[in-house]
Amino acid sequence: MRYAQGGGLTAERREFRERIRYQAGERFTRGEKTAVIAKDLRVRFIDALAATGTGTVIKPLCPVCGQRRRLSGTVDGRRVCTMCDEQARAVACEL
Ligand SMILES: [Zn+2]
Repeated sequence: MRYAQGGGLTAERREFRERIRYQAGERFTRGEKTAVIAKDLRVRFIDALAATGTGTVIKPLCPVCGQRRRLSGTVDGRRVCTMCDEQARAVACEL
């Protein structure tokens, strides 16, 4: 066996991991695109792990503004926060 029983995770984390897997399976079965599911659940997974207070998981910084925010958008192939995503999409008004 490559990992210790349960992958070295606590029962709580194993349950959390299984819940994420179940959600991914349900969404895949409903026909959602794998890339969308992975992107969405990865963000939730990071948030949930950080919320457990573990010191080994640190939410990544937005590469544009440097703030530690949820990275829900994509700019030039990089995951960025909502504010930076919206700024990148903004178009100047023509008056
Ligand atoms: Zn940002």
